[in-house]
Amino acid sequence: QAKTAGRNTIRFYDPVMQAAIEARAELAEELRHALERQQLCLHYQIQMDNRLHPLGAEVLLRWQHPQRGLISPGQFIPLAEETGHIVPIGLWVLQTACTQLKAWQGDALTRDLTLAVNVSAKQFRSPNFVAQVRHALLESGAKPELLKLELTESIVLENVEDAIAKMRELKLLGVSFSMDDFGTGYSSLQYLKQLPLDQIKIDQSFVRDIVNDANDAAIVQTIIAMSEVLGLDVIAEGVENEAQREFLDLRGCHAFQGYLFGRPVPLQEFEARLRG
Ligand code: C2E
Ligand code: MG
Ligand code: MG
Ligand code: MG
Repeated sequence: QAKTAGRNTIRFYDPVMQAAIEARAELAEELRHALERQQLCLHYQIQMDNRLHPLGAEVLLRWQHPQRGLISPGQFIPLAEETGHIVPIGLWVLQTACTQLKAWQGDALTRDLTLAVNVSAKQFRSPNFVAQVRHALLESGAKPELLKLELTESIVLENVEDAIAKMRELKLLGVSFSMDDFGTGYSSLQYLKQLPLDQIKIDQSFVRDIVNDANDAAIVQTIIAMSEVLGLDVIAEGVENEAQREFLDLRGCHAFQGYLFGRPVPLQEFEARLRG
């Protein structure tokens, strides 16, 4: 009853639910200060090609909470979306990633690496989004060609016209786009062919059982074939073992991200691994 009455309407007192609501409100309040208190950080997860050459990394947000320890994005991004804090947080992620790209430009080992940044729905919907990306690039001096923005199907489908317009503007700067978690949303081929995408990222849920589940295998092969038809790159996420990697590679997906190649790690560890 309380649930169907809507998020903000509590019809009766339920101590368990009340406690959960209070914990959530507390977390939201702490999240409001997380940026200024420098509790947010980025981890870097490597992306590799089939010759084991690093292509770049995806930057993944972490919250180093003074009492609760390291909190993963699944636990606070939905909350940050609700409260709107995701907008300044997302901007910080973008600026940090661009600054890092610039820092890598002077070193032969890192200068061609791309960084993929996750974009949230609220952030992308903001009328300032294009200006924010442009500003982050100009201010840092990063090469736009090395910045990849990850969107999801639901973000784009919310307003396809607006999404296409923003993507086009950013593509003019040189930025590229990857469709994250591909296959979990509802995008039709009709939309897909209209979008100025560069890459499709096969969702990890299809990769997990790819070797044993004929349906997953068929879905993945279809995604790869479709990417080829549309002239898009394809990368698989959640690649955890060699059997999955080989399966994907043999079927035409030659870029990978997953624990097989490395977990998301702090910058210093990421750079040490590149050198080591
Ligand atoms: P995502 O963008 O699909 O990122 C991939 C997630 O899969 C990451 O979880 C990563 O740690 C995890 N992963 C990578 N390789 C493997 C693997 O081999 N096996 C398994 N089981 N998992 C793997 P993480 O870091 O917890 O992030 C979860 C989600 O939070 C991300 O999903 C993304 O949607 C969101 N997120 C992370 N950072 C940001 C950010 O800066 N901004 C926004 N808006 N969202 C973010
Ligand atoms: Mg992603
Ligand atoms: Mg993903
Ligand atoms: Mg995912």
